[in-house]
Amino acid sequence: MISCQGASCITTFADFLCSKIAPALRYAIYEKTALDIARDMKVKIPDFSSNRSTLEACMLKYLAEEENFENFKHYLNSPGDFLKNYIQTKVETYCLGENRRLEMFLRESLTHYYENIQSAVFASTRVVKDRKDRNDKISLWLDEFCRALGDMLSLPRSDLKGIEHQEITDIEFLNNTMTKALSLLIDDLRKDFPDADMSSFETEPHTILAEQFAGCQEECPFCRAVCTNAMPNHDGDHQVVFHRPVFLGRYKWHNTDHLVIDICSSSVSSDCTFWIGKDTWIPYKKYRDAGHPYSTWNIPPDPSMQAYWKWFVSYFRTQLEQYYNGKFHGKGEIPASWETVTKQNALAELDKC
Ligand SMILES: [Zn+2]
Ligand SMILES: [Zn+2]
Repeated sequence: MISCQGASCITTFADFLCSKIAPALRYAIYEKTALDIARDMKVKIPDFSSNRSTLEACMLKYLAEEENFENFKHYLNSPGDFLKNYIQTKVETYCLGENRRLEMFLRESLTHYYENIQSAVFASTRVVKDRKDRNDKISLWLDEFCRALGDMLSLPRSDLKGIEHQEITDIEFLNNTMTKALSLLIDDLRKDFPDADMSSFETEPHTILAEQFAGCQEECPFCRAVCTNAMPNHDGDHQVVFHRPVFLGRYKWHNTDHLVIDICSSSVSSDCTFWIGKDTWIPYKKYRDAGHPYSTWNIPPDPSMQAYWKWFVSYFRTQLEQYYNGKFHGKGEIPASWETVTKQNALAELDKC
């Protein structure tokens, strides 16, 4: 319990209350800012304007523009991790790039809370100042203050018991002292903004976006394309709009080094079979009979392949042969028509979807 008298008592009270508000307010500002950034980016950055399929197309565009095979390997091997990194880089550029939007977002959050806390101070003062019937004015003021704040700040009334028995009667003076103390506290918080970066957040903005766009993480058992359903653990079969050449799932023609360039959605209408271990061969047409995970996928027959993968295979031919330990020859011969697909063709097609 803190005890004192008169004006110094009110100052002590205001300082104590502000020392409790400070950490809760700082936390609230950064949490709100993280949400505001995620919301703003969904409106302003095309990658996040729609669903996972749109984001997927944007990632493919980025990969094609960079033309870096190491990036492709990361995307193909750890799609979930690549997605997180991609989003993180986008958020950092958006917030910390030349416009340093982060500071602007923080200032807006701060203003929002400052106005609300100041209103709570005024409201509590209004309620309490004329209550001649009450001796425990401070306790009443704190009740009102916490009620007015609601769940805006994590400031439990029980944490303020140490100051509620103060002999303070001049509520107007308390109001003015609190207003001054609050303004100093705000100045103090604002000082940190120019140095703020992503490590200042407890919940980082990219985590919020990554959660919203992660969706189902299952990969097609043939081509390793990631299911495009927006819900993790969704009902029904896994699906993806565009399958890819299945050598990306490390398929080779039996007893050869020929990489399989066919796409799974085309194979499922062929008379080919695939091997699932031991001596077990399953006709593609009955791929679900291969059990889990094949049985959980809906792969409708569709022979059309995105221009993107035709360009990708032709362009990175040498690196792919080395990385997937096989050759694009024999049954894996790259069709001459693929060689004529340009990156511009591939990107233009992505823009349409
Ligand atoms: Zn597939
Ligand atoms: Zn799925």
